[in-house]
Amino acid sequence: MAQRTNSRLQEFRHILVMMRRLVGEDLRHLRQDIQQFGQLRHDASDAVDEAQDMESIETLTALIEQNNVRLRGITHAIERVDHGTYGVCIDCTGAIADKRLIANPLATRCRDCQESVESVHQQARPSVYR
Ligand SMILES: [Zn+2]
Repeated sequence: MAQRTNSRLQEFRHILVMMRRLVGEDLRHLRQDIQQFGQLRHDASDAVDEAQDMESIETLTALIEQNNVRLRGITHAIERVDHGTYGVCIDCTGAIADKRLIANPLATRCRDCQESVESVHQQARPSVYR
């Protein structure tokens, strides 16, 4: 199993902790927005406004869900740093390239394994990347 130097791991941990804080702030703002919509809707004068508000709330809800998924991914990545398994491909246990981790700190697979996972998922539909 590939090992990273501790200082490199701590650098990634630092990035992940910052990402977690940013996503946490986004989530707080999104929840505040939703609460405000809830209050505004109380005074909504016509059906059009109300429909637009419902749409906005749906968009906000989708964003919150996306951020929650991201937050879980970041938390798992931090746990992997702490368990010494960060940057190790979950499929082949090879090292994930630093360049790949910098581009996507939440990557859990090396490029080769990710590509084979994606090709399995994408076989049914035409891909513009081919
Ligand atoms: Zn791999």
